[in-house]
Amino acid sequence: MKPIRMVDLKTQYEHTQGEIDRAIRQVLQDTAFINGPQVKDFSRNLGNYLHAEHVIPCANGTDALQIALMALNLQPGDEVITPDFTFISTVEVVKLLGLHPVLVDVDDTYYTLRTDQLREAITSRTRAIVPVHLYGQCAPMQEILQLAKQHEVAVVEDAAQSLGAEYKLDGDIKKAGTLGDIGCTSFFPSKNLGCYGDGGALFTNNPDLADEIRTIANHGSHLKYYHSRTGVNSRLDTLQAAILDVKLKYLDQYNKARQRAAAYYDRALSGIPQIQTPQVHPRSSHIYHQYTLKISAEVSRDDLKRYLKDRGIPSMVYYPVPMHLQQAFNEKERFVEGDFPVSERLSRSVLSLPMHTELEEEQMHYITQTLKQYFQS
Ligand SMILES: *Cc1c(COP(=O)(O)O)cnc(C)c1O
Repeated sequence: MKPIRMVDLKTQYEHTQGEIDRAIRQVLQDTAFINGPQVKDFSRNLGNYLHAEHVIPCANGTDALQIALMALNLQPGDEVITPDFTFISTVEVVKLLGLHPVLVDVDDTYYTLRTDQLREAITSRTRAIVPVHLYGQCAPMQEILQLAKQHEVAVVEDAAQSLGAEYKLDGDIKKAGTLGDIGCTSFFPSKNLGCYGDGGALFTNNPDLADEIRTIANHGSHLKYYHSRTGVNSRLDTLQAAILDVKLKYLDQYNKARQRAAAYYDRALSGIPQIQTPQVHPRSSHIYHQYTLKISAEVSRDDLKRYLKDRGIPSMVYYPVPMHLQQAFNEKERFVEGDFPVSERLSRSVLSLPMHTELEEEQMHYITQTLKQYFQS
């Protein structure tokens, strides 16, 4: 059996090596390392894939979120609502821009933000909601968009873990990241569509926002050396765009491979009462950026993790500390334990299994058998 990895980018590369190497060589020969033609090609192809009118590439997913909030022209102290259980970027950019993050707890079944809490969190100062499509399935966008419309607040989707996931909105099926005003994603190597370095993108169907986003990402400039506002320098480099343009063709195939692996895990682990396998919301598909188990409270998650590690099975905790208990966010806010009980419970009980496009049945058999053994002993 091949050694088990959380993510196997090497084998994935080997399957498309010819195409990828050719794409890279082309960039090296053209030497248009910044804003080369591949950046436009990839943006157009991603727009077609997502059915998004405008795709603006940038340097990473965190920048995408920051630029999205900058494009909304918010004032210091304006409130932005985010889930408490997420990766740091979602909340970090809110703080960085001098805005006020308002956290809400997440749902115990789907791990995405709770709409009952969202409703209560909206005030006259709320300007934006940033739902996170955590682990690869969409947050409850139907309800979120309804609330946003009613209160006239913008919706910026954090689709860093969900590129290619779909959501049933009213009668339509839409791609994650194209439901709200602006969608943001990351091409960090381990994401479902990953490059060989850092990368990110924003999507929108609103031409004014697209224009604003493009300007901000380009030093606040429409015309070289003329700057209409304070922006940032955030670009997807040509090499990464060339790699992504090859990999985009395989994204659906990659997501299907993850779904097949998830179905295997689901089946094999269904009989273990101490384990809750991922639940999929009826409106959303799940593309399993992570395959995340919830372990019952009477089991030591960390002991289980060690047991697996000792047997050659890596596993990870995404995420061990909820946002409200992060030191960085706790100076003024003075959150305490108990403020967001579901998020706190999840931070102690989630465990993600190896999940990637190259998992072999033999490996999944070994992983699930080892898990079963742990609970039988
Ligand atoms: C990866 C990730 C980001 C940030 O992406 P980077 O490209 O690493 O900056 C933001 N939000 C979520 C939910 C992520 O998983």
